[in-house]
Amino acid sequence: MKIFNTLTRKKDEFKPINEGKVGIYVCGPTVYDYIHIGNARPMIVFDTLRRYFEYKGYEVNYVSNFTDVDDKIIKKAIEEGIDAKEVSEKFIGECKKDMAALNVREASVHPKATEEIDDMIAMVETLIEKEYAYEVNGTVYFRTRKFSDYGKLSKKNLDDLKSGNRELLVSGEDEKEDPLDFVLWKPKKEGEPSWESPWGDGRPGWHLECSVMSKKYIGDVIDIHAGGEDLIFPHHENEIAQSEAANGTEFARYWMHNGFLKINNEKMSKSLGNFFTVREIGEKYNLQVIRFFMLSAHYRSPLNFSAELVEASKSGLDRIKTGALHLEEAAAAGKDGEMTEAEQEHAAMIDKLVTKYEEAMEDDLNTADAISVIFELIKHTNTTVKTGESTKAYVEQAYNILCKLTDVLGISLKEEAVLLDDEIENLIQERQEARKAKNFARADEIRDLLTEKGIILEDTREGVRWKRA
Ligand code: AMP
Ligand code: ZN
Repeated sequence: MKIFNTLTRKKDEFKPINEGKVGIYVCGPTVYDYIHIGNARPMIVFDTLRRYFEYKGYEVNYVSNFTDVDDKIIKKAIEEGIDAKEVSEKFIGECKKDMAALNVREASVHPKATEEIDDMIAMVETLIEKEYAYEVNGTVYFRTRKFSDYGKLSKKNLDDLKSGNRELLVSGEDEKEDPLDFVLWKPKKEGEPSWESPWGDGRPGWHLECSVMSKKYIGDVIDIHAGGEDLIFPHHENEIAQSEAANGTEFARYWMHNGFLKINNEKMSKSLGNFFTVREIGEKYNLQVIRFFMLSAHYRSPLNFSAELVEASKSGLDRIKTGALHLEEAAAAGKDGEMTEAEQEHAAMIDKLVTKYEEAMEDDLNTADAISVIFELIKHTNTTVKTGESTKAYVEQAYNILCKLTDVLGISLKEEAVLLDDEIENLIQERQEARKAKNFARADEIRDLLTEKGIILEDTREGVRWKRA
């Protein structure tokens, strides 16, 4: 597989450190609010990368952190008069719900920064011992200039950075040896969460978290490090400096960065206020549509969010779902026995499409082209599969291939019915409880909701039965 590596600025052939295995670290969100759909882009893209590696038979160790100590979390906690931990725990839970709705699988490990403080202190100690770091008044800084490879990811030149940073010296940061130095450990301020350390009570710098968590859960050298392109500098550049200085070895072999999700050609971001949360969008659309929309573009291209484009994705996805439904029906009515000669030829064509799909994915995860191949497949099965005429053997094979390919993209063709059944059962259960508690308003509300969705309830002696209208 070829991966565009931000480090080399070209597509490099992917070679794992250990045969058949791949370790992927994706910088996760800072949990102080609901995530917006821009934050969802790296989640969807790199979950798809993971699924593709698994499709190819790799064992994937997928690690993605939650930054649960940060200025923004503290600010929110102060505003709401609650503990910072309450804020982060709440939004970790909400983020996990959104991820599930987007069909983003749970990571192998979701480390939280606050649970890895001891290892962070240990890394800072190593850096001080190696003279890559120094302490001033309870703050520990990284000595940027001592790391000779600094700038290799972002292709930034230290002297340019220095002139850009000159103002910092005047603005009260003159305790640093050099304006380029960045913080590894910062001292406690009143009312903030803090941990004991050899440099006094304080908390870790953001960049340090990822260096430590990727080391602990993957190793000193990781195969792929990923995140949004805004993280290249300074976050990833600083992670490289810390990790390579502390571990004495290369940090990540491939760096992948997704482009921005934009709105009116501006980056969608919390600070600009031009964002939609995943939650809000989930009220308007099935989130599978959003996932499909995100994968309809190449992950490195900027992607503009607009109602028209989402509608186009919705009809594209509907076309695939209708094609799948046709296959399900034709499989149920399929003839027994072996494939006919003509069907064998159709099946050979499907194999060619699978190869084409894989070629697209092998080319730096070109999901846009892979989706075009899925449309080709649907077109092919729409014309070659005839309900009541085709053999079960052919239709089932075509259907299983379609499901396998869409599953790599995290689009589940079978899921809706199953989920819906679950949802219905839960709602019926809730209605029973509401009735028992004499909350008839709620019970009626649930019945109306189900009616709206075309579900008919029947109260029988054995309990509540339901059927679809
Ligand atoms: P944050 O919580 O801001 O650190 O962001 C979490 C992840 O979302 C990072 O990988 C960011 O690069 C990514 N991200 C934030 N905004 C966008 C956007 N508009 N488009 C794509 N990725 C984004
Ligand atoms: Zn990170």
